[in-house]
Amino acid sequence: MFKYKKILFYIISTISLIFLLSGCMKNKSEPIAKEGLFLGTYCKITVFDNVSRDVLDKAFDRVNQIENKMTINKPTSEIISVNSKSGLDYVKVSPDTFYVVNTAKHYAELSQGKFDVTIGPIVKLWNIGTDKARVPSPKEIQDKLPLVNYKNMILNEKENKIMLKQKGMLIDLGAIAKGYAGDEVKKVLEANGVKHAIINLGGNILAIGSKDNNKNWKLGVQDPFNTRGEYLGTIEVSNKAVVTSGVYERFLEEDGKKYHHILSPKNGYPIENSIVSVTIVTDKSIDADALSTTVFALGLNDGLKLVDSLKNTEAILVTKDKDVYTTSGMKDNLKITNSQFKLKNLSLK
Ligand code: ADP
Ligand code: MG
Repeated sequence: MFKYKKILFYIISTISLIFLLSGCMKNKSEPIAKEGLFLGTYCKITVFDNVSRDVLDKAFDRVNQIENKMTINKPTSEIISVNSKSGLDYVKVSPDTFYVVNTAKHYAELSQGKFDVTIGPIVKLWNIGTDKARVPSPKEIQDKLPLVNYKNMILNEKENKIMLKQKGMLIDLGAIAKGYAGDEVKKVLEANGVKHAIINLGGNILAIGSKDNNKNWKLGVQDPFNTRGEYLGTIEVSNKAVVTSGVYERFLEEDGKKYHHILSPKNGYPIENSIVSVTIVTDKSIDADALSTTVFALGLNDGLKLVDSLKNTEAILVTKDKDVYTTSGMKDNLKITNSQFKLKNLSLK
């Protein structure tokens, strides 16, 4: 089943795409696209250059490779090997996996552990987004919480080896691997002559180049309260990664309460703050992916403060009250089209 709900960002309707095409039809051929279920989500790559379809197959081969190294939802992968040797031994992994885990560690440090890929044992208790989702007992959570600690994820950079210090620890790269896959797809496309493309890996968007005639790509920012492709506004970008983390994507509803999938490494429950979605716009998709989850976990004030401190990085945060906060570099870019949403200012303390 295609998880259309997971398409947080999308090119603003096919209409604008058709527009875009009619502007460049004379000399160029139609765009080519390929879609499918990868990384447990709906993915689509659309290329607007005159290249052979093989390019798309190569791009998805790369996505498959990355999934096969980093998944925890298949019988084997490098991450599954690392997890199964927890408390016992180092495991040598590929440069791909090492880089992603190392980057994850960086974001754990930046957020003082609010972003933590060793959250695996807690993710497994909740299973949110799967048919096994349930609310675990407080005791189950208390038993697993001591296993969550990125400081016990030991990286040997010289030999590309990873070891989890405590038995039972589990790495889950769900908050960052799709982002990395986006960057790698971009490399494959560019190496094959692509200059204009939109990569969408489950809502992780990478816009390659610009639209024809050097115009920006126009993207819709998902309305977090209306998941069926409605958007709250639009932004324009060229050559940027745009990633959203939201609590509307996957959740479990029990006894009238909603439980979402971004969890606190401190208490083992879904993180509760004023935020319903965070969109990050930056150069690399791995950073955008990790940061969207990180900023969500940090909350409005600390989240915006962190993004403000990072170069070439902008953010859009939406609260439960439908207030929209942006970094200063995003303020003039975001055009709110749904009047229920109000742009607000925040003086950072
Ligand atoms: P999505 O993958 O649904 O687009 P995110 O990028 O925000 O959303 O990642 C959420 C996923 O990250 C969860 O499904 C889980 O696998 C993992 N995760 C949950 N809480 C945390 C956390 N505090 N730090 C790092 N990863 C987390
Ligand atoms: Mg993420």
